[in-house]
Amino acid sequence: MDDDPVLQERNGAIMDKLYSKIEAAMEKSGKQYDTGLIRSAYELAFRSHDGQLRKSGDPYITHPVAVTLILIEYGMDSETIAAALLHDVVEDTSVTLEDVTKQFGKSIALLVDGVTKLTKMSFSTKEEQQAENVRKMLLAMAQDVRVIIIKLADRLHNMRTMKFKSDSKQRQKALETMEVYAPLAHRLGIRAIKEELEDIAIEILDPVAYAEIVNHINMEKSEMDNFIKEIKEKISSRLSPEMKNVSVEGRVKSIYGIYRKVYMGGHSFEEVYDIYAARVIVNSVTECYNVLGMIHEMFTPIPTRFKDYISTPKQNMYQSLHTTVIDKSSQNRFPFEVQIRTWEMHHTAEYGIAAHWKYKAGLSGSDRLDERLEWVRKMLEVQMESDATDLIRSIKSDLLPDEVFVYTPKGDVKSLPAGATVIDFAYAIHTQVGNRMIGAKVDGRMVSLDFQVKTGMIVEILTTNAKDRGPSRDWLNIVQTGEARSKIRAWFKKERREENILQGKEEIEKEFKRNNINLPEEEFNKFIEDIARRQKYLSTEEFYAAIGYGGIALSKIIPRIKDDYQKTYKTDESAKLEKVMAKNRKEKKASSGVVIEGLSECLVKFARCCNPLPGDDIVGFVTRGYGVSVHKKDCVNVENAIRSESTAGRWVSAHWDSNQFERYMSAIEITANDRDGLLADVSIALLNMKIPIHTLNAKECKDGMANIKLTIEVGNLEQLSKVMEKFKGIRGVIKAERCSQ
Ligand code: MN
Repeated sequence: MDDDPVLQERNGAIMDKLYSKIEAAMEKSGKQYDTGLIRSAYELAFRSHDGQLRKSGDPYITHPVAVTLILIEYGMDSETIAAALLHDVVEDTSVTLEDVTKQFGKSIALLVDGVTKLTKMSFSTKEEQQAENVRKMLLAMAQDVRVIIIKLADRLHNMRTMKFKSDSKQRQKALETMEVYAPLAHRLGIRAIKEELEDIAIEILDPVAYAEIVNHINMEKSEMDNFIKEIKEKISSRLSPEMKNVSVEGRVKSIYGIYRKVYMGGHSFEEVYDIYAARVIVNSVTECYNVLGMIHEMFTPIPTRFKDYISTPKQNMYQSLHTTVIDKSSQNRFPFEVQIRTWEMHHTAEYGIAAHWKYKAGLSGSDRLDERLEWVRKMLEVQMESDATDLIRSIKSDLLPDEVFVYTPKGDVKSLPAGATVIDFAYAIHTQVGNRMIGAKVDGRMVSLDFQVKTGMIVEILTTNAKDRGPSRDWLNIVQTGEARSKIRAWFKKERREENILQGKEEIEKEFKRNNINLPEEEFNKFIEDIARRQKYLSTEEFYAAIGYGGIALSKIIPRIKDDYQKTYKTDESAKLEKVMAKNRKEKKASSGVVIEGLSECLVKFARCCNPLPGDDIVGFVTRGYGVSVHKKDCVNVENAIRSESTAGRWVSAHWDSNQFERYMSAIEITANDRDGLLADVSIALLNMKIPIHTLNAKECKDGMANIKLTIEVGNLEQLSKVMEKFKGIRGVIKAERCSQ
């Protein structure tokens, strides 16, 4: 703090003015808060952020205060509020975690620490790293879910103020929000945060479509407002006078909700029945069904559009009755949706897991917090059994907001992520049903095992008691859920030891042949023994078995094995050759076009995380034993690492040698709405610019999206940015960005 009394007075005035917003919000919430605690957290935050500004030019303290206001609105407790005020002090100021612990206690310090760690994580890195970070996040969540709730509010405010950041930063954050944070908010059932995050992100990612949707909504707004008003009045007048405390309201579907249906689902605006909907909130489940009967009497229901999420809640515990009806007595004969729910269901629908704090007193029966976090536990169990790539796959599929509801012949319902197969269904019923499965009938007809189930289908799993039957290894490539995958793996691990050992040995021999690793049997055995020990297996057999059931991905360890082999067994002759080659490589690398300050001759490699190109601002990192690795200055890894003390002194200045005229490989990833001719347009664009393509990989994804990865050869950054502009101008392209190879 400054000693100048005038400044101090001005600061004091600002401090009080800002705090009055927090006071007002707490007052309005009607909840009891520990105001002493919150005021002192605020004062520490205010003092330590003093002098810092946000990109918008506002004092930094406005950010933690905004996050706090969001969390008060969600009814979070005093500890969460104090931690929200302090959430950036450890990361961005001289205050340490110990300071926070001393002044505010362990529980608040843990929250601050959790948020700080999450903030340092990047989810836009390569898959494996992303998986590891998601795993850490799940662990944090299992420990104290309030960490994630603070982080969501933090991300929400950052997204609201995103326009002050650079274009590329905006896109990066928007994608991360779409892939990780919005699905998390959805999982936790916090509807308003999820929808606002998605709407801001999609405005950044696809501004044209966003404007189209807003336009469409505005065009029909007054007509629809009148229509909804009419419907509301009709429903209200029919409600029996005994039903007290009932609310009838209209609502508009979120912009991203419409985007999914129109731009990703290929429907027209007219086909999206629930852009506008009426919502009836009543006091009991019985009243819900009574109102449903009444609605179906007044209007004409569309039979296929009725959903009972009361008897079958969504995975995030959302409950409601949804029905789509047509008002034949009205001039407007288009279908509209009516949602019917109790007040408690409404609170869960709006606030999700946060309802635990907001309505603590009102919760009936046992505390449902555990139930809400059940899926976190499941995800963590899955990750114990599988490697990182598997985990990220199951998180992505399990976090996909779309789920399907499938019935057993007895009428029990299972909810599965969209795209799940009959095998996933079998394992969702019971591990033994999955393990003994020999076939499946859907709605009475035999189907193949890769058949994907849809909502409403009745699925019968055919099983056998024969002892020698069990799942097949192919199933691992068919199943969609992490649960099924880990159960199949577990079966192989346990039941098929002999088979696994043989399979594992075979796989290793095949890989060795492919990689020219030739050893006489005795040496081979010793070599494998060493590897097994290093991989922490008790015996060679255990090691083979682990490969056999898929506990080790061979492709991951082969490079290391190859290195070992070369070090240990290479003949003098080939070792010499290797040396010469290494020298050649080194000389070639030395003319990499980069000058490292203070180091005249050193090995330079370009970091794969950011693939720097001539023209990028760069910085070098002195690695242990592998020369200098060159990163872009704004690479996320650099931003995180440069602050860390453990790497201090290993960062060196680097710049491009302007005398070099080389060409560089650059990897690009394009995400687009799939359409005929998309690939042709991409290649023609490159052809016209005379840019050579080295690799090109295109695949269709779910939701009608296409993903194209390509490596091209460019001279410098300027040329690359021209290419990117071209790509972004191609119809359907949502994003084009540089990626790791
Ligand atoms: Mn923050």
